[in-house]
Amino acid sequence: MEPGMISLAGGNPDLAGLPLDALGDAASALIREHGTEVLQYSTGAGIDELRTELTRVMARAGIEADPADLLVTAGSQMALELITAMYCDPGDVVLAEGPSYVGAISTFMGLEAEVSHVPCDADGIVPDALEARIAELRAAGKRVKLLYTIPNFNNPSGITLAADRRPRIAEICREAGIVLVEDDPYGLVRFEGETVPAIRAADPSVIYLGSLSKIFSPGIRIGWVLAPREVRDRLQLLSESTTIHASTLSQHLALTYLRDFDWSGHLDRAIVRYRERAEALLEALPSALPAGSTWTRPSGGFFVWATLPEGASADELFALAAEEGVVFIPGSGFYADGQGERELRFSFSLESPERIREGMTRLARASERYARR
Ligand code: PMP
Repeated sequence: MEPGMISLAGGNPDLAGLPLDALGDAASALIREHGTEVLQYSTGAGIDELRTELTRVMARAGIEADPADLLVTAGSQMALELITAMYCDPGDVVLAEGPSYVGAISTFMGLEAEVSHVPCDADGIVPDALEARIAELRAAGKRVKLLYTIPNFNNPSGITLAADRRPRIAEICREAGIVLVEDDPYGLVRFEGETVPAIRAADPSVIYLGSLSKIFSPGIRIGWVLAPREVRDRLQLLSESTTIHASTLSQHLALTYLRDFDWSGHLDRAIVRYRERAEALLEALPSALPAGSTWTRPSGGFFVWATLPEGASADELFALAAEEGVVFIPGSGFYADGQGERELRFSFSLESPERIREGMTRLARASERYARR
């Protein structure tokens, strides 16, 4: 990227507040004192103490879990791949929000599943529309296998699935024999309002994906799956045939961080920064985007999703914005079917409020040029 460019594009977490010296000492002690264990192969399921700590993380989302029902993976991206491989044959349908996470869409399409976007509004998936879509697809002879949802602060839309819709959506899936995959990497990154219990909290048939990427570090590549026992066991076999297991050293470092550090305090401080950045972005957007645009107001996570007026092109606005020195991501990549032409994602996780405000000044210039083009 060009020097001076303000990026509201990538969705990396802010790691600036991590206790790096103490973590360095802990990592060094792990190797010096337990090197032959932490540098060795370990169990396919993930190390037991880490699985226990992860159940404590999930308790914050209202989930009561048995550590034996968890499989530790190399990030939740890997879990998505394993689940898709396990459930989907080419041509099978995966239902997903529209827009949805690019990495999940790529996984589904890479394994030749068809992605069908379910109608959503400001409160997430619309239950009646979900039911109607399933019926339509079945009437057309399609095999619908999975519903993939990011219920908290969706990447990219920032939208949270309303609490009262959650049990209904789980019920629709159960009745239709569709496996519900709840991907929740952002749930603990809430800067406004009360926690909404996970869908899995009320329905043990849900497959729940967790990750340390947004609450600790994405580079250590630690995520997990909570699934009914027989599903978990099959996923473990698939995991063993791809990576054998997630890195033993990373798992031990994650365990140390969760058990011995004030991870929650560090996360709270990061959340304060995310809140300030989201506010800076939301305050400036009305004067930065073309007249007639709308956008979401997230209560957590990293993203705001904007919709330009009818007939506008996010790609064209992007080109002008990049010339002015600010970038975002145009929307069509977040759909499997090329829609999203006039939509775009802003990420506020990494730039300071000052830089975000400067980015919005630049975007305002791009929007003026766009209006005059
Ligand atoms: N799901 C969603 C919704 C994400 O936004 C991301 C990362 N951006 C992932 C999964 C993958 O996360 P991980 O680093 O745990 O593989």
